Amino acid sequence: MTNLTNPIFHDEDKAREHLEALRWPDGPWCPHCGSTNAKRLEGRSYTPGALYCRDCRKKFTVAVGTLFERSHVPLHKWVLAFQLLTSSKKGMSAHQLHRMLDVTYKTAWFIGHRIREAMREPAGAGPLGGANKVAEADETFVGGKAKNRKSTAPVRPKEAVMAPVERDGRVRSFHVASVDAQTLRPILTAQLDRKSYLMTDESTVYTKTGREFGGHGTVNHSIEEYVRGGFWHTNTVESYFAILTRGIFGVYHHVSPKHLKRYVGEFDFRYNARGISDAARADTALRGIEGKRLTYRRTG
Ligand SMILES: [Zn+2]
Repeated sequence: MTNLTNPIFHDEDKAREHLEALRWPDGPWCPHCGSTNAKRLEGRSYTPGALYCRDCRKKFTVAVGTLFERSHVPLHKWVLAFQLLTSSKKGMSAHQLHRMLDVTYKTAWFIGHRIREAMREPAGAGPLGGANKVAEADETFVGGKAKNRKSTAPVRPKEAVMAPVERDGRVRSFHVASVDAQTLRPILTAQLDRKSYLMTDESTVYTKTGREFGGHGTVNHSIEEYVRGGFWHTNTVESYFAILTRGIFGVYHHVSPKHLKRYVGEFDFRYNARGISDAARADTALRGIEGKRLTYRRTG
């Protein structure tokens, strides 16, 4: 259970110290030149948390070179926003962040997207699955508007998301333009170790690609097939999609196709960090602020 009484969520100095401890576990280093030869600038004439690099003679704070650089939002609100978004199973809308953080809606929207950026898995994270491992893959559809009986407007087509999930492991979701073998194959072969045992439904989009893996099992959903021997099933990916679709539909309502990738990444992050405490999960995301910047015109 998330404890929001921690002073890092309310006190600017405590929030900054928390970020410094996460970013600089072995002491501060200069984000301009990498030097560890830095001293603190104490005194009222300096920005709180300011440091001075004796090598390149530039000033910096813990926010420089991160997603927080040039943000006018106090650090304790950032830290609180990270906690809220990483601990809410189905996410948190910009409207709710706006109310809970007492920032404008627009700022809350930017905060949400910056946090999703921090949650993004670093490149080169390696394939899922492996020898003697089962990887389930499936597709779902999200982002469509609920049918409004009063409206005669056509229902917007839903967006397809496909996800390979390592059983008892990690997930990686992808917003795909269409659900066909040609689209899914490059994702599966890039994201899954070829030695994995692939488990899918009987959809023909997996038939050919399945032969490229250590094995391929299929589950027939059209007949009521029970989990055979605890092995032939796709319950892992189905449970994951249940949270994803409920979250996208219930919390985020109108996710534009342009941003869907970021939202599914947010659900991936929480799923992949499911085995740790809320505080540890928030810290994992906070470590992701390093070296990332968003180039939106307006800053939060
Ligand atoms: Zn320097």
